[in-house]
Amino acid sequence: MSTCSAASPPTHGLVIVYTGGGKGKTTAALGLAVRAIGYDWHVCMVQFVKGTLRSGEIEGIKRLAPNFELIVAGEGFVGVPGGKKSLEVHRAAARRALEIGREKMLSGKFRVVILDEINYALSLALLELKDVLDLIRIRPPQVTLVLTGNNADQKVIEAADLVTEMKPVKHPFEKGVPAVRGVDY
Ligand code: ATP
Ligand code: MG
Repeated sequence: MSTCSAASPPTHGLVIVYTGGGKGKTTAALGLAVRAIGYDWHVCMVQFVKGTLRSGEIEGIKRLAPNFELIVAGEGFVGVPGGKKSLEVHRAAARRALEIGREKMLSGKFRVVILDEINYALSLALLELKDVLDLIRIRPPQVTLVLTGNNADQKVIEAADLVTEMKPVKHPFEKGVPAVRGVDY
């Protein structure tokens, strides 16, 4: 496989937060993953809320194997009508996802670790803020850690190097247009 120059200088990673109510948080993280894979680096994405990743990206990620590993750790949407799982089940799943994220980040294998929807899980109090801040603090310098999800905690924002807030300006959903294949899923 042809990749970008392997002789490039050593690279340090960043803590990146993609938050806000506009579309583009997870897809921004996936774009960053594609860029990193261009250097033949390995990327791991841990999904904190099952069901937020769509068929398009799940299949796309498979095509980037073995450089892209996806771990579905969450237990589904929290508090949805008809949802039968207790908060404790969601909490246990979120804690497990955080533990997996920590292991992957410290494994030495991955240059990018994406914690998808972790901000949302934190805002629902499925995780302890101090545990998330601890994870950020022990990040090996070469690893880029990406935390996505709306309502990022102020302390997480302060701990990050790069924060982008997606601002909704227009979304076809407002006109009742259903999700679009290849764009939304
Ligand atoms: P994407 O995965 O497209 O980058 P996201 O990660 O920013 O979106 P999520 O909160 O994870 O947003 O929601 C994912 C789904 O919700 C996508 O289908 C997306 O199009 C849709 N969505 C995101 N933002 C909005 C919005 N402001 N209004 C309506 N639908 C939205
Ligand atoms: Mg998302």
